[in-house]
Amino acid sequence: MLADILPPSPVVPTVDFNADGAQHGLLRLPYSRDDSAWGSVMIPIAVVKNGEGPTVLLAGGNHGDEYEGPVALFDLARTLRTEEVHGRVIIVPAMNYPAFRAGTRTSPIDRGNLNRTFPGRPDGTVTQKIADYVTRHLLPLADVVLDIHSGGKTLDFVPYAAAHLLDDKVQEARCFAAVAAFGAPYAMRMLEIDALGMLDSTAEAMGKTFVTTELGGGGTARAATIAIAKRGVRNLLRHAGVLEGGSEPGEGTRWLDMPDGQCFHFAEDDGLLETCRDLGDAVRRGDVVARVHPIGRTGRAPAEYRAALDGILAARHFPGLVQTGDCVAVIGTVDP
Ligand code: ZN
Repeated sequence: MLADILPPSPVVPTVDFNADGAQHGLLRLPYSRDDSAWGSVMIPIAVVKNGEGPTVLLAGGNHGDEYEGPVALFDLARTLRTEEVHGRVIIVPAMNYPAFRAGTRTSPIDRGNLNRTFPGRPDGTVTQKIADYVTRHLLPLADVVLDIHSGGKTLDFVPYAAAHLLDDKVQEARCFAAVAAFGAPYAMRMLEIDALGMLDSTAEAMGKTFVTTELGGGGTARAATIAIAKRGVRNLLRHAGVLEGGSEPGEGTRWLDMPDGQCFHFAEDDGLLETCRDLGDAVRRGDVVARVHPIGRTGRAPAEYRAALDGILAARHFPGLVQTGDCVAVIGTVDP
């Protein structure tokens, strides 16, 4: 096995994963640099354990400009009481901590996109070292893994929890049952456009029950999407048997599909975005969902982006200006 020949992780946790009680500690990742020769990146982590039972790993801040996860998980870490837990909850509210502190998707240290870096390397960049620690030290402890994303500064989504179609149909059913339990307004059978190096595929390959989310975006978090995240993490803990009680349903969940690559609509020119539909709006195949206006001079016709499928607008480009290659719109098809 590759894991046998890799050097040990340089990351040192200040928590004991096997101790009962609530611990608030740090993952200390050595980072030697000009302004701190023996410096470290200190990643907050909480462990709440009470006896035997399943382990749930809850992660936010995989991308540093997505805020529902950090808000819900810093809040949960502070409020979760040992007595209400059966088993163990491991909480990492801001996994790519340097990116989170910078408010950017990728790390300011090495430009690492953590969710394209898995399984990582113990002898690589800071971002690769974070991925390696999660892969070899946190994922093996977990039965259920939740990674909370939203759209960041450049995308905005209807709020959904999601899992992927998997070859192992038993595992796939476990993942979708957990997605349903999360109780977001939407649930997605998700197709990835760029799955290589994701925490998702790494956790799934290890047989974990894995749930991801896209809860909003635009480089902030709204009251409504924070409430979805807070309710969802507790619902998932109940579903896993770590907390008692049944799932607290929201307003009901609509199931969406991303059946193939036609869901994604990419800009073929730079310009000014005119959104023609809002998130959650119904669209028919052929409807114009966005126009991109040339901005060099007046009098030129905009490029039109038409829905390739019937469904709803599930995601859109967020900033007002578009660059060639940006994802302008994503259509999710609606389950009958
Ligand atoms: Zn993300």
